[in-house]
Amino acid sequence: MTAQVIDGKAFAGRVREKVAAQVASLKAEHNITPGLAVVLVGEDPASQVYVRSKGKQTVEAGMNSYEYKLEADTSESDLLAMIDKLNADDNVHGILVQLPLPKHLNEDLVINRIAPSKDVDGFHISNVGLLGTGQKSMVPCTPLGCLLMLRDHHGSLSGMDAVVIGRSNIVGKPMAQLLLNDSCTVTIAHSRTKNLADVVRRADIVVAAVGRPEMVPGDWIKEGATVIDVGINRIETDEGKTKLVGDVDYDSCAAVAGAITPVPGGVGPMTIACLLANTVTACCRIHGLAEDNEFTA
Ligand code: NDP
Repeated sequence: MTAQVIDGKAFAGRVREKVAAQVASLKAEHNITPGLAVVLVGEDPASQVYVRSKGKQTVEAGMNSYEYKLEADTSESDLLAMIDKLNADDNVHGILVQLPLPKHLNEDLVINRIAPSKDVDGFHISNVGLLGTGQKSMVPCTPLGCLLMLRDHHGSLSGMDAVVIGRSNIVGKPMAQLLLNDSCTVTIAHSRTKNLADVVRRADIVVAAVGRPEMVPGDWIKEGATVIDVGINRIETDEGKTKLVGDVDYDSCAAVAGAITPVPGGVGPMTIACLLANTVTACCRIHGLAEDNEFTA
């Protein structure tokens, strides 16, 4: 079997088009322009690239983008004061603090200072609790993107066996919760899991969010399973160049899977598209307007 490639890049393009249409109608019908504020502390090169890309796509979708670049030695109280200001700003509907933060800043404290209604990353403890109890919440963008691709490919996920490899708060845990809310039978695997190969072999859906290049080989994959590769790893090639690879060994997995996301071009593009969708969702909720549920969990 050769797997169908799930084209996250094309899917993300469709999400962005719909988001842009929603933004246009919010402007035309309600004179509201959704606004996303992104706060970057320090000069981590990867974070700078992500922040630039988020700002660009926000503007392309017709929304207002507010970028705040703070010095690496910014104090916690100054950062919290900035978040308070953004919480109170009616032009801002989504707030994202780019992670990781420099070591002297307490990430939990900072994230939990964001108003839950504007927490477009879905990391605030209130949103985590709402998701965990199956209530309406802001859903973390990367797992939301994975879920949308899975639903698009399968329709209903009900009754499927899903294995999520990785238990981080930003990917693994919310991913498992979303799959459970869609009535999958979910196993969460991590670095202490015994017989990982056998655990993965049971799965109809495998989501790999580990951060280890090409860790999952094809002989762990059940024939016909759907493989969602969240990993983004930069490795050196034999020619001394670098390239991006995922957490699964693409060629051997694609030979047995029913469907698979490539890296790059799979989960990655969906993450920012979902951030834009979350910002529109937050804007609609804040203003008490009907929201388009197509891009929510
Ligand atoms: P973390 O490092 O926070 O979590 C990694 C998880 O993998 C941990 O739960 C860890 O287990 C588990 N793990 C590590 N080694 C093994 C192993 N040998 N066997 C089984 N499980 C293992 O990473 P993130 O969740 O933040 O990110 C995961 C990957 O996804 C990274 O490559 C990251 O770059 C990528 N990513 C991609 C995004 C996108 O937009 N496409 C967005 C966010 C992340 P334990 O808890 O026991 O330590």
